[in-house]
Amino acid sequence: MSVTGRILRIDLTTRRHSIEEIDRSWLTRLIGGRGIGIAYLLKELRPHVDPLSPENKLIFLPGVLSGTPAPGFARWVVCTKSPLTHIYGRSVCGGKFGAAIKIAGFDGIIVDGASEDLSYLYISKDGVRFLDATPLSSLDTQKTQRILRERHGRRAYVACIGEAGERLVKFSSIIHERRAAARCGVGAVMGSKRLKAIVVDTSGSSPPRLYRREPFLRVVREHNEVLKDHPRRKRMTQYGTTIITTIMHDLGIFPVRNFQEGRLEAIEALSAETFQTFKVKDYGCYACSTRCGNVFSVREGPYAGATSEGPEYETIFAFGGEIANT
Ligand code: SF4
Repeated sequence: MSVTGRILRIDLTTRRHSIEEIDRSWLTRLIGGRGIGIAYLLKELRPHVDPLSPENKLIFLPGVLSGTPAPGFARWVVCTKSPLTHIYGRSVCGGKFGAAIKIAGFDGIIVDGASEDLSYLYISKDGVRFLDATPLSSLDTQKTQRILRERHGRRAYVACIGEAGERLVKFSSIIHERRAAARCGVGAVMGSKRLKAIVVDTSGSSPPRLYRREPFLRVVREHNEVLKDHPRRKRMTQYGTTIITTIMHDLGIFPVRNFQEGRLEAIEALSAETFQTFKVKDYGCYACSTRCGNVFSVREGPYAGATSEGPEYETIFAFGGEIANT
């Protein structure tokens, strides 16, 4: 386990920050991630607060093993009051941003208030800076990340919004690398705070301290040893979640034409094998040996050169089966 016991609180309205101790009883009862996020929202958010007002909170929380060498625990969560449902919302994402928060020395970041102008946060071992993001206005998330990493270096990890978040689209996402915290409209909440990005620069910072380091590392080694030759791990590395499509189809529960049917005649076009013909390389979240991410590239035709991680299974059924698009 790796717990810093510290949370970074940002007030965008006053452009101040503070570092607070997390209630110890929360850490033992709720452990980390969304449990801690819900506790903060329950304690600090008054009822009926407008999700897109400065009063709402946007809380970034890595899982309790994020930033450690344990494989498959890199995920992080954004907790807030959702502008879509007006109740508690949480959105989960992968990549390296959660580990970066831990390496920077925090179990989470709470963002309060709202900035007057579009801004971004730069968090490093030297502190927190509130920086001007107006030149990044309307840029998509890939261009935004590229510019910020060129500016702050390769050990700077970025979570940001694109134009949809800035325009408060209620289902907009927060993007890190090519991974999305895509549920509950967390991007709109970030946009309402006029916060284009959070950059966590891990230069000069060390990975979080491990309790009972040697036994922990032994378990990690054993776990990786099991994964190394496991056939399911190999299939996940090769195909990622695209493998699920034909499994669901064979079971007759692949969502076709908005769930009216469970099978699709031309399912081969959406199969894992078809996507393999576009595969360029694997991608893995922090410390993950499974590396289930697949980077695909279109090789010919009008979209030749278009490259992205995914689509994952959910996108394949939403943009494939549900609208019978093969
Ligand atoms: S690469 Fe895949 S399996 Fe590994 S942590 Fe990320 S989402 Fe999970």
